[in-house]
Amino acid sequence: MSDPAPLPQGSVIGILGGGQLGRMLSVAASRLGYRTHIYEPSAAPAADVAHALTTAGYDDAEAMARFADAVDLITYEFENVPAASLDLLEARRAIHPNRRALEISQDRLAEKEFLNSIGLRTAPFAAVDAESDLAAAVQKIGLPAILKTRRLGYDGKGQIRLREGEAPGWTGAPSVLEGFVAFSAEISVILARGADGAVAAFDPALNIHEGGILRRSTVPSGLPRALATDAVLMAAKIASALDYVGVLAVEFFVTPAGLVINEIAPRVHNSGHWTQAGCAVDQFEQHIRAIAGLPLGDGKRYADVEMENLIGDDIARIPQIMAEPDAQLHLYGKARALPGRKMGHVNRVSRP
Ligand code: AMP
Repeated sequence: MSDPAPLPQGSVIGILGGGQLGRMLSVAASRLGYRTHIYEPSAAPAADVAHALTTAGYDDAEAMARFADAVDLITYEFENVPAASLDLLEARRAIHPNRRALEISQDRLAEKEFLNSIGLRTAPFAAVDAESDLAAAVQKIGLPAILKTRRLGYDGKGQIRLREGEAPGWTGAPSVLEGFVAFSAEISVILARGADGAVAAFDPALNIHEGGILRRSTVPSGLPRALATDAVLMAAKIASALDYVGVLAVEFFVTPAGLVINEIAPRVHNSGHWTQAGCAVDQFEQHIRAIAGLPLGDGKRYADVEMENLIGDDIARIPQIMAEPDAQLHLYGKARALPGRKMGHVNRVSRP
């Protein structure tokens, strides 16, 4: 069977979500001769660099239908699109990555069950549908543990740590209780899979979080080669099992007993921003190539890179960063620097 023809030049790629990831996807798409149409309910930094913008809610069926009719292919940088909207979009246009990948990553419980079903390790977990289930879950998992909402959590939001001797909190929504993983490091793998099954992975990055938000990603990760190989193989197994097309991010905890998967994201990922300065084809272009049916870059790394997120008031440091000789600055064009808001990032490059 021959592979489907690549998406023709000038085609419009619809992107659900208009944040910084959509913005950088849009720039990559335009470098490859495509146009983008952003769908975003609120302020959309991505719209500054896009061909068209729809400002409407993710549950607005009419706006969704018009959006789908106006584009040739749909992708996303935001995975919490309601199922009914996905039905509507999918009936009109192809969506990459596919529905199953999206649905699994929308629900922490479904995600962990899926990962375990293909033989991959996660933190021990128990479903907590209601507050009345919490005591039994704590009994099963033990303390310390982390209670996370099943849906709509990101950057540590919707999470409560439960400790021995403290009154347990409640998230207010169906949740999953995760055993606390005593990790020595956190790493992530960003890989791409094409419709033909080709896979290309970037080097795993070492990630440092502060207050639940990614602060820095560094390559090389400094971890043993065998561990990096394991991480890439596990990520590839996930991509194959999901018949995935596009860029996939997999976050791992490094423990003395090996790698434990924290979570997966069916999209480009903050911990892959270093590829902009370290690789000929970065994660954004790689994603566009994968969904457009173009050949993938090979993921080779040409530099050592440290990516630092600029969060909130960090942007006051822009003049100093601009004065650094080896710093590549990316700003997202967001109007206000609120605490915890990602305003931009810096890739600091050195020779490998
Ligand atoms: P998440 O939003 O689930 O990625 O969680 C944000 C951060 O909280 C992670 O990157 C870890 O640093 C920490 N964390 C999350 N889950 C666990 C866990 N089960 N055990 C230990 N630390 C965790």
